[in-house]
Amino acid sequence: MENLRESHMQQRVGRRVVLFPSPLQGHITPMLQLGNILYSKGISITIIHFNSPITAKYPHFTFHLIPIDLMEHEAATADVIDLFLLLNVNCIEPFKDCLVSLLANVEEEPITCVITDAVWYFTQPVAESLKLPRIVLRTSSVCSFLAFAAFPLLHEKGILPIQDSQFELSIPELQPLKVKDLPVIETRNPDALNQLISGMVSQTKASSGIIWNSFEELEQTALTKFRQDFPIPAFPIGPFHKYFLASSSSLLSADQSSISWLDKQAPKSVIYVSFGSLAAVNEAEFLEIAWGLANCNQPFLWVVRPGSIRGSEWIELLPNGFLEILGGRGHIVKWAPQQEVLAHPATGGFWTHNGWNSTLESICEGVPMICQPSFGDQRVNARYVDKVWRVGVHLENKMERGEIERAIRKVFVEAEGLELRERTMVLKEKADNSLKQGVSSSQALDSLIRCISSF
Ligand code: UDP
Repeated sequence: MENLRESHMQQRVGRRVVLFPSPLQGHITPMLQLGNILYSKGISITIIHFNSPITAKYPHFTFHLIPIDLMEHEAATADVIDLFLLLNVNCIEPFKDCLVSLLANVEEEPITCVITDAVWYFTQPVAESLKLPRIVLRTSSVCSFLAFAAFPLLHEKGILPIQDSQFELSIPELQPLKVKDLPVIETRNPDALNQLISGMVSQTKASSGIIWNSFEELEQTALTKFRQDFPIPAFPIGPFHKYFLASSSSLLSADQSSISWLDKQAPKSVIYVSFGSLAAVNEAEFLEIAWGLANCNQPFLWVVRPGSIRGSEWIELLPNGFLEILGGRGHIVKWAPQQEVLAHPATGGFWTHNGWNSTLESICEGVPMICQPSFGDQRVNARYVDKVWRVGVHLENKMERGEIERAIRKVFVEAEGLELRERTMVLKEKADNSLKQGVSSSQALDSLIRCISSF
């Protein structure tokens, strides 16, 4: 792992790329990490964004705000799918205008290409109209992308839209996925979801290449299938967050008491609980989590994001004195420095929603998981964690304190937990190794730099 400061010294190579992340936490983090990786190779970085408060942490990038009021759009749409559909229309003109003015700026290095999040499918025709190559960044797993790409086939076969009676049915084309693992996202407007996915898939196919925050040794089978179906260069250069000492792109501020509390716990004893930046639970589920943790006898560090319990502000539903009764065995924060938490010697397990960043971060620290996917790609990631990589226990039923307690015991106390831990350590070593010179991710990065330089 290199210190980014050293790469500030790196000679600039006289090329600039323009990055356009999606504004969600799980998307913006990998895009900024990618910016750092490219910057360390001498490429200058411009970021087009709406409103993110992270600019001060990246003084080596140039930021351009486009005049789109995200809050206003959020208020006007029913859900995140509607929001993205609308943004894919409303951003066309401002994004194009911004690119045109950047291209006209002769004081900066020439722009060689744009790298945009896969959800911004509108950027492909815009880039083409300006004769700029577009490379896609997909911020989730390859296996979940293949599931999205199979949606038309699944519609044809009558598997989509999902019927409850087919939940347990295996899907031979997407093994080991079952119907219940498909990355559907609850939305008031299913047509919007189909439109978004079809735009993402078709405009990825039309792009000049795709960057994955994944590595060959983790997703070899999925990458082989992707290369068969998508005749564009694929650059699996992940895990992104392992290139540099942690540089924060968190939109929320992390509670550092997480670390001082972990410092007081025994090695590999703590279950870390976090469901990311979007997933929410209802009040009954929240109480099942609380009692599952209270009854499990392991120390726990629990992130309860304000707004993540439907109907409650924060943890006011907990019985009075809940944490006091546990005598310091539990610590609750609103947001944690997750990468540091996972790397801490006291952390022994991660109860996660399996967002792709969280899944990779856990693998990279050798921390076995308890999987509690909520929607979209998380379901695919969870199934792979459980059945393919075999580094986690899958909680598949309704949240229930007894089941939660049993899953935690499995990871921390039973022989199966030891096996999970050993397999996670093997994957961690593969992840570390992939970044070494001449190995898969490092080679893919060299090819990416050659590709960017060839435009
Ligand atoms: N994260 C964090 N502190 C928390 C919870 C999450 O820093 O308390 C970070 C986490 O390290 C990860 C990102 O937020 O990088 C969440 O991304 P992920 O893809 O796992 O899930 P999403 O939030 O997109 O559902």
